[in-house]
Amino acid sequence: MEDRLKAFADELARDVAYVTAADERTDADSVLNTAPSAAPVFILRAKDRLAVSAIDFWLMLAESYGLPAEKLDSARRQREAFSRWVERELPMPPLLGAGERARTARDELTDAASVLSRMHPREPIFVLSPADLFAGRTVQFWAWSAMRAGTAPEKVRTALSIARAMDEFPGKRLVGRGKALVIEMQEGTEEDAVLPAPEKVKLVDKKPSASFVTAIRCKSCGYHEILVRGGRRTPEANALVQEALKENCPSCKTPHSFMLETEADQGGPARIDTSVAAGS
Ligand SMILES: [Zn+2]
Repeated sequence: MEDRLKAFADELARDVAYVTAADERTDADSVLNTAPSAAPVFILRAKDRLAVSAIDFWLMLAESYGLPAEKLDSARRQREAFSRWVERELPMPPLLGAGERARTARDELTDAASVLSRMHPREPIFVLSPADLFAGRTVQFWAWSAMRAGTAPEKVRTALSIARAMDEFPGKRLVGRGKALVIEMQEGTEEDAVLPAPEKVKLVDKKPSASFVTAIRCKSCGYHEILVRGGRRTPEANALVQEALKENCPSCKTPHSFMLETEADQGGPARIDTSVAAGS
């Protein structure tokens, strides 16, 4: 079995330059090695029958956000390797670490029973970490797909609560954009990520939105306004966000009180709709 997979991987690697489980473990720049050790992570592996559509979903979000071509290309290479991988099951990875908390980057690297440790070293991998702005939503999509595939509700609830823990973990940034376009940069905490109680997660058969909005929220009074629907790729959208951050809160009049939020698109008015602007 191992030899068959190695032979298959050799052939695949001749066509597609993809990231393997072994690369993720040994490359100092890998997602797992650069994530804070306590960051909750979610590993998509090629053996997982739900993984390709989850990567497609991630790509939709990343494209809508206007991620640089180089980052999109590497995700597309992973997607290609995943779709061609020979082994395919509904493996349902273990989602929790010791003590019923989200599995962390540290767990994956050190625990012999982790998803990473149990993968074939040459198996394609796609690690979702909370530093990735699209991670939480992609895990939500994975959970929705798992629910559709008939997975036990406890497992779906657990995945959704991990998605929440990822969203709440500090240090969100746009992958591949460096510090120039930081959304919210804080020091990562070294404490274990809080995992919302899975039994409190309500299961709704609704596909997560593959687009999102950029909004401002007043730190003093909670005033909330959607600035940009869709990606912020246009100079107009970027300028609008910068200007809006300088305004006083229209509700409580506090100056410099806004923080930026990126959230699922639930409809509602926005100052700029880049998806329309881009097409017109
Ligand atoms: Zn206010």
